[in-house]
Amino acid sequence: MTQDPAQRIAALSAELSEHFHRYHVLAAPTISDQEFDRLLAQLQALEEAHPALKRPDSPTQRVGGTPTSDFPTVRHAQPMLSLDNSYSRQDVFDFDRRVRQSLPDEAVEYVFELKIDGVALSLLYQDSLLVRAVTRGDGVQGDEITANARTIPTIPLRLRQPGINCEIRGEVYMESCDFAQLNAQRAATGEPPFANPRNSAAGSLKLQNPNLVAKRNLRFFAYWIHAEGGDQTRHSECLATLGDWGLTVPENKHCAALADVFALYDHYAATRSALPYEIDGVVIKVDSLSQQERLGYTAKSPRSAMAYKFPAYQARTRLLDIHLQVGRTGAVTPVAVLKPVPLAGSTIARASLHNADEIGRKDIRIGDTVLIEKGGDVIPKVVGVDPSERPDDSVGYSFPDQCPSCKGPLTRDAEEAVTRCDNPACPAQLRRRLEHFASRNAMDIEGLGPAVVEQLVEKGLVKDLSDLYELKVEALGALERMGEKSAQNLLDALDRSKEQPFDRVLFALGIRHVGATVARTLAQAFGSLDALCAASVKELEATHEIGPTIARSLYASLPALPALDRVLYKLENKAALQFEIEAEEAAPASYFSSKTAVITGTLSNYSRDEAAALIERLGGKTTSSVSNKTDLLIAGEKAGSKLAKAQALGVAVLDEAAFIAQLKEAGVA
Ligand SMILES: [Zn+2]
Repeated sequence: MTQDPAQRIAALSAELSEHFHRYHVLAAPTISDQEFDRLLAQLQALEEAHPALKRPDSPTQRVGGTPTSDFPTVRHAQPMLSLDNSYSRQDVFDFDRRVRQSLPDEAVEYVFELKIDGVALSLLYQDSLLVRAVTRGDGVQGDEITANARTIPTIPLRLRQPGINCEIRGEVYMESCDFAQLNAQRAATGEPPFANPRNSAAGSLKLQNPNLVAKRNLRFFAYWIHAEGGDQTRHSECLATLGDWGLTVPENKHCAALADVFALYDHYAATRSALPYEIDGVVIKVDSLSQQERLGYTAKSPRSAMAYKFPAYQARTRLLDIHLQVGRTGAVTPVAVLKPVPLAGSTIARASLHNADEIGRKDIRIGDTVLIEKGGDVIPKVVGVDPSERPDDSVGYSFPDQCPSCKGPLTRDAEEAVTRCDNPACPAQLRRRLEHFASRNAMDIEGLGPAVVEQLVEKGLVKDLSDLYELKVEALGALERMGEKSAQNLLDALDRSKEQPFDRVLFALGIRHVGATVARTLAQAFGSLDALCAASVKELEATHEIGPTIARSLYASLPALPALDRVLYKLENKAALQFEIEAEEAAPASYFSSKTAVITGTLSNYSRDEAAALIERLGGKTTSSVSNKTDLLIAGEKAGSKLAKAQALGVAVLDEAAFIAQLKEAGVA
């Protein structure tokens, strides 16, 4: 290589930016993926060797960056308003009439755009360089998520025209196939699925690790600009400009008359399921920017635009039966078994019925012709009944008072509107618990899928989680579709699972509200199951990232664990699972070890959450109020009554400088 590194980095950055644009915006790549990866790796290596030469628009930012612990709140220069919306054509006529009355004797033309079901985002460009990305938030202020936005390939890091200062707004979204793939991955690892692509886009944008965001295949459609010295006079010109600058814009069309808008609406209403992304309607905007300005705003929305939404996909079919599904915590949910019917590109045979109240309120009966609807959510639901088609001998549905699996009594939790089977030995609950226990994010036991679990429970080979570890090769080999070899493989997998760390075990136990992330947090903070069960609600609440709601319900459900006592005892002592974090995972001995600290006032280098996390990492605990159990007060600026109380109680007090000195001592600052 004869070029100097600065030239080489500049050339590679420019070349890769161009390929990004060709691949993601134009969908017309000119090099292979391998070649692209090779160039990117070269650039990464050069930037690592010469960090000072890394360019602000470097394409390496597309693959991620440093994780952040929180997103600063930023006020929007102009509020991000939402659009008035309606499902009714009459409302569109009324909108058009109001627009024309406000602009007497002027010709009014519209732009028709597809309305993507995504998450609104504002991008700030200075001298054509992306400097900030902020979510819509409450419309007045949102979260700054610039590092995450930089990973979205259809958001240009540098506009394709120099010297532009502007704000661009648009929608971050996820294509339907990427969404389906993400949910399949989550199902495989035991994580809850996202309800719809909009939720998954919103959740992805808020991930704290940009490397993960980069893998989510988010995309961006731009639909608004406000540029310094911009000379556009029409919205349609703005869309063309956005395209010239390297952004993608939603499908749109100039409409001289309202009739054109309706024709397009009908076309997309009929064909939308063939689009690669979900749209929930169309947007109608007055094309002239000067007219837009004169029309102005209501308190909530511009008067120059409205969203005309599509009705949810609906179908009619026969309700053949109502099945009760028993979850691993005993919650019983009714599921509609339907005569299969096509809806929005798939065949629907089951739908959600929510809960017993809902069935009663809608008087849904087996044998009824029901209306099902697929709205924003993946699972369709039964929304109504056609009583005119009800058979003469129809009888009202009475919700069973017996568990379909164990025949035990069902109880109603009126507050949560949930019906429950409270029998801890219920086979259906046990099956769900075993499936969860074996899942990839939990104990990761290969070969222990639903079919095997069902046989183990049915044949009485497994009555609780701990029985898994006492299975013998002969008994397993006698199961259907299970030879001696697979039986041995399963035993080996069970054996390997004993090495899973405590946080996995904690997650695998299937305690309510303890997902994989909460389990990790609790494992770090408390170190062992014993310590966790002994924790007070205050201590739970003071744990980093455990909100008061989770803390309270955890506190309520942890005492239920002694019911599991025998199982836990066997798991811990006979199967020898990891019931505490291992020595090397445990916090190193430090000034903070075993101390209970309270943080008060404002620290300039850390948020309180960050400071608490550091103390926990170093073996300490944090609580929110000063008492005679407090060992340490970290007092930032403007520390008030807590400082006075700590001094009165003789509690050691560290100011921020002393706190940082101790962190440095422990090697974390
Ligand atoms: Zn039961």
